[in-house]
This record gives sequence, C-alpha cells and structure tokens, in this order.
Amino acid sequence: MIISGAARLAGIFGWPIAHSRSPLIHNHWLAAYGIDGAYLPFAVQPDDLAAALSVLAKLGIGGVNLTIPHKEAALPLLDQVDAAARRIGAVNTIVVQADGGLHGSNTDAFGFLEGLRETLPGWTGREGPAVVLGAGGAARAVIVALTDCGAPEVRIVNRTRARAEALAAELGGPLGVCDWSERDRTLAEASLLVNATSLGMRGGASLDIGLEALPAAAIVCDIVYVPLKTPLLAAAEARGHPTVDGLAMLLHQARPGFAAWFGRDPDVTAALRASVAASLDR
Ligand code: NAP
Repeated sequence: MIISGAARLAGIFGWPIAHSRSPLIHNHWLAAYGIDGAYLPFAVQPDDLAAALSVLAKLGIGGVNLTIPHKEAALPLLDQVDAAARRIGAVNTIVVQADGGLHGSNTDAFGFLEGLRETLPGWTGREGPAVVLGAGGAARAVIVALTDCGAPEVRIVNRTRARAEALAAELGGPLGVCDWSERDRTLAEASLLVNATSLGMRGGASLDIGLEALPAAAIVCDIVYVPLKTPLLAAAEARGHPTVDGLAMLLHQARPGFAAWFGRDPDVTAALRASVAASLDR
C-alpha cells in the first residue's frame, strides 16, 4: 500500500459503518494497482451528514460512498444528481467536482446488471418476465435496472402490496404487482427471479417460497450476501437453475466510484471475491 503526501482519498459515510465491506473492496483495488491512495470508513451520524459533505472539498477528498442511513437524505444536499439516482430515490456515490460541487449517482442498478452479465455472459434482461421480491430501496434499484435494459415484464411481489403499487406507479414501465400470498404462482413463465427483500439474511427471518412453477432455465438471483449461499440459492441450485449471488452486485456497484476517484475501472477478480467472501464469515 502506498499513501504519500499526494495520495488520493475517498471513503464511505454510514451510521453505523463498522460492518461495511467497501473499505476492503476499494483498498484491495488500490493495492492491486499500486495506486497512491486510501479509502476510509467514516462514522457519520444522521444529523451530521450535511456538515460532513460540506468539508469533502475542503479536505481534498475525491468523494464518498453513502450507506444506511444517508442514501436518501443526501439527495437535497447535492449540487447535481444523475437520472438513475433520482429514479431510485437514493444516492450511493458522490464525486467532488473540480469546482468543489458534489455530484451524486446511484450505482446499485449498474452493479446488479454487471453482476448478472459477469456470471451469465450473454444475458440481456430481455429474455422474458422477471419476478422481483421486495419493494424497498434495493428492489427499486433492481427494478430500474431491469426496466432500463428492456425487460418485457417485471412482476413486483411485496409483503406490503401498497408499497409495491406506489413504486410501480412512480417508476412506470411494464410493471405489475402481485400479492405476497401468491408468490409461488407468480413464477410461472418467468425467466428471472430476484430476491430483493431482507429475507434469508443470517440470523433473520427465512424466505418461504416454492420454486416448482419456475421454468427450468430461469435464473435465480439473491442480492442478500450474508450468507453468500442463501437457502433460496441452495434450493435453486438443487433444481438446476443458474444462480447469481449478492456479492456480484456488491462488488460491481463499487466500480464507478473507484474509477472516478482513482482513475481506473477496476476488475472484479476471483481474488477480490475470495477476500470479501472470507470477510462475510467473520
Ligand atoms: P428495505 O428498504 O428495508 O426493504 C426490505 C424489504 O424486505 C421490503 O420489501 C420488505 O417488505 C421486505 N421484508 C422485510 N421483512 C419481511 C418479511 N418478514 N416478510 C416479507 N417481506 C419482508 O431494505 P433494502 O435496503 O431494500 O435491502 C434489502 C436487502 O438487500 C438487504 O438484505 C440488503 O443487505 C440487500 N442489499 C444487497 C445489496 C448488494 O449489493 N448485494 C445492495 C443493497 C441491499 P415490506 O415493504 O412489506 O416491509
């Protein structure tokens, strides 16, 4: 690792922040490419977000990622916000501009698509209907990603139906809403199933869904990444479905920020995956 007086700096704001894997990801790339720089975790309380953002330029920090609880709160505090972040309603990447202005973007949709494309080369998103479980922040990014890449139909299935309906009405496009109690049946003729709920996380409630109606060639993706192989992915593998885990999205969503702050679009390598996967077991 090189950190000279000329080092480029970036980091992540969150509260709490100790759980974040972003420092591991970015510092792995900095070391791999021999870049003079550092990426630091900043524990920023919700009430301090505006003040913390306002000093980035003064400290010469190139930008930051944002995680819970700052992703939505940052929107009105920035000078520019890109279209994807506006549609998703959250910012996860901030780049300080040459004039000190703050540019916000959301790279979760990009990360989700790149993770699928990396795991399943040739996948376009236009193969057939997609089923998305969930209507929270992560689901918004997944739905925006799928509609942007031309999915012919996206079925949103959420415990709180009204939340899914509000999301579909706001985003527009080929979106349908299905009852949570009907989730097994929504899988008929689907080409992709994405779990974007928090169900299946280690120590939390499990995701109860039967895959019998899902066509054999359908892809199953779980964006939950602790554990890496969720019960949903294990069940899908046992049925022979191609699967994509949540680490793919997590790693690829980090790329645009790294490129902007440190000047290189980084590779998502097996070594990086192994390093972050090992951290998930700790
Ligand atoms: P969120 O905004 O809190 O949304 C949670 C979602 O889970 C909602 O749709 C909620 O339904 C649903 N849910 C929660 N408990 C449920 C239950 N008992 N039964 C049925 N549905 C339930 O959370 P989020 O930010 O979207 O994150 C969701 C998951 O995605 C988390 O596990 C997070 O770690 C993961 N994630 C992964 C990545 C990645 O890069 N791989 C990125 C972002 C997030 P209601 O609307 O009914 O409450």
